[in-house]
Amino acid sequence: MWDFSTEPEFEKQLEWIRTFVTEEVAPLDLLWPHHHHKQPPPWLKKVIDPLKDAVRARGLWACHLGPELGGQGFGQVKLCLINEIISPFSWGPTIFGVQGPDTGNAEIIAHYGTPEQKRRYLQPLLDGELFSAFSMTEPQGGADPLGFRCAAVADGDDWVITGEKFFTSNSEDAAFLIVMAVTDPDAAPHQRMSMFLVPRDTPGIETVRRTRYMGEPEEAMDHALIRYNGVRVPAEGLLGERGRGFEIAQTRLSGGRIHHAMRAVGQAEYAFDMACERVLSRVLRGRPLADQQLVQQAITESYAQIEQFRLFVMRAAWRIDHGDGYNHEVRRDIAVAKVLSARIAHDVTQRAMHLHGALGLSNEMPFGQMWLLAPGYGIWDGPTESHVSAAARLILREHEPAPTDLPTQWLPSRIEAARARYSDALAEQAAEESVRS
Ligand SMILES: Cc1cc2nc3c(=O)[nH]c(=O)nc-3n(C[C@H](O)[C@H](O)[C@H](O)COP(=O)(O)OP(=O)(O)OC[C@H]3O[C@@H](n4cnc5c(N)ncnc54)[C@H](O)[C@@H]3O)c2cc1C
Repeated sequence: MWDFSTEPEFEKQLEWIRTFVTEEVAPLDLLWPHHHHKQPPPWLKKVIDPLKDAVRARGLWACHLGPELGGQGFGQVKLCLINEIISPFSWGPTIFGVQGPDTGNAEIIAHYGTPEQKRRYLQPLLDGELFSAFSMTEPQGGADPLGFRCAAVADGDDWVITGEKFFTSNSEDAAFLIVMAVTDPDAAPHQRMSMFLVPRDTPGIETVRRTRYMGEPEEAMDHALIRYNGVRVPAEGLLGERGRGFEIAQTRLSGGRIHHAMRAVGQAEYAFDMACERVLSRVLRGRPLADQQLVQQAITESYAQIEQFRLFVMRAAWRIDHGDGYNHEVRRDIAVAKVLSARIAHDVTQRAMHLHGALGLSNEMPFGQMWLLAPGYGIWDGPTESHVSAAARLILREHEPAPTDLPTQWLPSRIEAARARYSDALAEQAAEESVRS
């Protein structure tokens, strides 16, 4: 069955979200653009708590986890449809309880956590009471997890973590960090690491540099270089089984990447809508910009790129909902979606900004921040190249090498086989043609 429509009941919810986000959430971005991942001071809590309550009252709060994992979600397709609407605004995910990196962290605690870990960390995350961070990348290597050095050594009933992690987003305002550390250096490459839940106030966690994303001010979210100086974690801090850190990270990043992809769709649509409005409004030599052929090309290319990408992401989300989790087809499509999201964030933003002329490059339109984010899509959760390689490996798994030196579609051998298959008809054809001549 092929069906590209949204259930009418859920479409009503999406309609509500569109209005709510435009009227109530978008203004928060204009006034407090960097507060969305921090514990709010009392005056801000008074503003945002009623908004979160309104989302809860509609049954839309924290819908990234399904009921089987302790959430109230309705699956990845519907989460994609929601993410698409709320993501152009940095406050959107926080007001709906689906902000990264917390969604990915919640997902792995739900999958791998003990009942006590779920009570202590997952429930407050789902309730929106605290924020978390994911500490995996290291200064000497991010794309290659096999090069990680930060280690956890067993000491009595505890683990002691020592090493450095780079670009740990929101480390400052997180209540706890999920840290990936080498526990079994002599094991097989993908079984060397384990995952730990570490409260932020554990002694020995040092912020070496409060690195920020380019162009962002001091009060923006940090992506810090953290040094773990013999950080002591009790045995109960181990998340999942020892040696399964790599597998847990893959689960986390697979979910996170599809969420990011749909955020890229939402942001591209936002840029595209601005572009359409502008070319219909701006007049050049007595006619709207929209009448210019090269402008029409820019609009059509952006539309085509967004629609292709959106359908692709939705199908990947549908596969997650209808299959057995992150199987090979899903991982293939998520890798491709990750590659495409960087391209679409760049291309559509660039065209929209360009069509606005100087105004588009000014601080009076929202393109600056979108433009600065575009290269980020190609780096966070792994660089484009590593996803291109991962996708190619998974795509090629569905194909076989040719049995001989020549391709199976080599025309001379196929023609020979076709002649053998239809030899009777060919003989009749030849006989008929010889009679005619
Ligand atoms: C905004 C932002 C937030 C982030 N948040 C977090 C976080 O919360 N927690 C966390 O742990 N990390 C986080 N990261 C880090 C991110 O996951 C890493 O930056 C990413 O995995 C790449 O690692 P790297 O920066 O060390 O780049 P490197 O591994 O040094 O790669 C640099 C370049 O080398 C090339 N390259 C790498 N691998 C390949 C390959 N296989 N084939 C061909 N070329 C290749 C590519 O050109 C790549 O861009 C964040 C990054 C950003 C930008």
